[in-house]
Amino acid sequence: MKRAVYPGSFDPLTFGHLDIIGRASRLFDSVVILVMVNKTKTPLFSIEERVKMIQSVVSDYGNVEVDFYEGLLIDYAKENKIRVSIRGLRAVTDFEYELQIAQTNYELSGGFLDTVFLTTSLKYAYLSSSVVREIASFKGDIS
Ligand code: ADP
Repeated sequence: MKRAVYPGSFDPLTFGHLDIIGRASRLFDSVVILVMVNKTKTPLFSIEERVKMIQSVVSDYGNVEVDFYEGLLIDYAKENKIRVSIRGLRAVTDFEYELQIAQTNYELSGGFLDTVFLTTSLKYAYLSSSVVREIASFKGDIS
């Protein structure tokens, strides 16, 4: 069984995240979308709200489940015996941060947790949770 975890804030989930989830679900036997606490960000939605929202849109995938964790990703990965973390890359600006996180997770887990990067579909390259939150705050069209 090839299992993977897709960790993130998902505050809220966007079509960009969904695109990564769909592609990951074809690459792996099972994928856990893991809602996590990012201490550098102040969340708009609670963890419970985010889990519910994600569950409602991924229910059609037979091999995707949703979970949450308020600790380090490597501890969740070890507890659940998942050796692959999936992250999305939109632009070169994501790269430096993502590279650091991936290398830290690999080192800190003693080589247990590897990261697989999927590059965004071009039509979602501009899309982020923060852009969606900002448009929504001014009652703009987020459809
Ligand atoms: P985090 O706070 O952990 O960065 P996010 O919810 O912002 O959580 O992002 C989770 C992952 O999804 C990150 O790897 C991010 O680069 C990726 N991601 C976000 N938006 C997109 C998008 N439009 N296309 C592809 N990947 C994306």
